Amino acid sequence: MAKAIWIFNDQCCLTNSALASWQDEDLIFMVESRKELDLPFTHQKKTAFILAVNRTFAQTLTSQGKHVVYLDVLHSQHGWTQIEQLAALTKEYHLTEVWLMRPKSWVQRHELAQLEKSGLFQITLTRDTNLISDEAAMQPWFAAKSFRMETFYQKMCRQTGLLMDGAEPIGGSYNFDKANQQVLKKVPAKLPRLSFKKSALLLAVIADVQRHFPHQLGSCDPFYFSLTPEQARRELDHFIMHILPTFGQYQDNLILGDPYVSHSLLSAYINIGLLDPLEVCQAAEGAYFRHHASIETVEGFIRQILGWREYMFYKYLTLMPGLEKANHLQAHRPLPAFYWTGQTRLRCLAQAVADTLEHAYSHHIQRLMVTANFATLAQIDPHQVHQWYLGVYADAWDWVEIPNTIGMGLFADGGNIASKPYISSAAYLNKMSNACGPCPYDPKALAGENACPFNALYWHFIATHQDTLQHNTRMAMIVQSYRKFDPEKQATIARQADAIFAKLKAGQL
Ligand SMILES: Cc1cc2nc3c(=O)[nH]c(=O)nc-3n(C[C@H](O)[C@H](O)[C@H](O)COP(=O)(O)OP(=O)(O)OC[C@H]3O[C@@H](n4cnc5c(N)ncnc54)[C@H](O)[C@@H]3O)c2cc1C
Ligand code: SF4
Repeated sequence: MAKAIWIFNDQCCLTNSALASWQDEDLIFMVESRKELDLPFTHQKKTAFILAVNRTFAQTLTSQGKHVVYLDVLHSQHGWTQIEQLAALTKEYHLTEVWLMRPKSWVQRHELAQLEKSGLFQITLTRDTNLISDEAAMQPWFAAKSFRMETFYQKMCRQTGLLMDGAEPIGGSYNFDKANQQVLKKVPAKLPRLSFKKSALLLAVIADVQRHFPHQLGSCDPFYFSLTPEQARRELDHFIMHILPTFGQYQDNLILGDPYVSHSLLSAYINIGLLDPLEVCQAAEGAYFRHHASIETVEGFIRQILGWREYMFYKYLTLMPGLEKANHLQAHRPLPAFYWTGQTRLRCLAQAVADTLEHAYSHHIQRLMVTANFATLAQIDPHQVHQWYLGVYADAWDWVEIPNTIGMGLFADGGNIASKPYISSAAYLNKMSNACGPCPYDPKALAGENACPFNALYWHFIATHQDTLQHNTRMAMIVQSYRKFDPEKQATIARQADAIFAKLKAGQL
């Protein structure tokens, strides 16, 4: 009997485990859902990337002799989710057996559970091959404990054998961050990046995006994303060969005019299925074995994928649905308009937003220490910040974006994901970036017209949340420092913060 195989938009990999069950008579269903593609703040490049990868993947499956039924935005139902449309298609073809790879999205899992209850289909969920770990095998572990990233990562190293020498980590440590995170003495030359000629399919997708989503942010020009596993693999090889050796050393730096520094730009490909996360880690490990890159840099890179990416997924799984709405610090200011124009005098923020609007990408330090740092200090409503991050980045899917934004970026979950708020004054940004030089604000001043807003907002945040933060071992000393300020200095901080909030409200920052 024929069955339906459903492929979601972020499951475009030939190793999709539901495809392993394919037989000649089966039908593969794929859908573009306007409801899911057209969220607030969505970037045109993100939409074009998703559509182009999906349509290319459907073509690949067709060329293998598989029967694919594909509904594009023009033909799919407005206001319907992928699952609603996939179910309708399956009924239309009189099929009752459905196979699909387990989605990461909590919303999709919930929808599937409802569908299963309806009894219309017999649904088989297969293993998510876009994760290194096996969720079913991990279940007893993550369900039983409140786990932190370091213990999780060490478990993953032992489980996969990556960077292990028998039972011990290579180099005697699981973490070499102390050797990474260097302050650059001079601005390095920009590292060369690959880009590919636009295919006819991509040009058609861009025309569709311009026709159907003209209100979305940014533009599709220039467009440099890989769309096939072969192209993404070439980008991976290029990264390993030319960029990885400096990854650890440069990774925490912000450089004006260089949106990528030494980051890999691979997240969008891993998350949509073009690259296998384990294969990326193994490629980096191979560079260490060939003496092409140091253990410090390779460990720092592998930890991002084997550690952070998987850790974020399990945190999402255990904390949803509450996580999406969490607002532990009771932050209620609206998202400033400059998050979608880049028009602000704060040079570091203007740059991070401009890079985001141009590339639908910014690197981790821009996301964490600039846009999220400012949003935390300025007490911006976490839900609005989450919608911004989900819309503007080509790699953003809710399972990875929500824990990163709500947990790591904003500390809005109260510390379940990150062990302390990732906040800083201008001192950190001045040390790690070259943005403060040309900025009209003074990174060393606390008060006055030209004082950098990060400074007063930082201390105002500590003052506001001191009763909570004093119990956090990583923040207690900072709370003590604030409490030792004389009352005049504390009053200055409060006045300066009020002035900044007034300017923010008036759109004058
Ligand atoms: C507020 C905020 C929101 C974020 N939203 C997303 C998101 O929507 N999607 C997303 O993939 N990442 C997100 N991240 C994590 C990280 O910033 C991006 O993965 C990274 O910037 C992607 O660029 P890259 O591929 O050049 O990464 P690199 O710096 O080269 O890192 C290598 C790889 O490690 C993985 N990785 C690194 N850090 C993380 C992390 N914290 N969580 C998950 N994977 C990680 C990615 O797969 C990445 O490709 C967010 C971080 C913050 C602080
Ligand atoms: S002075 Fe402040 S606002 Fe300006 S670039 Fe430095 S940290 Fe950013």
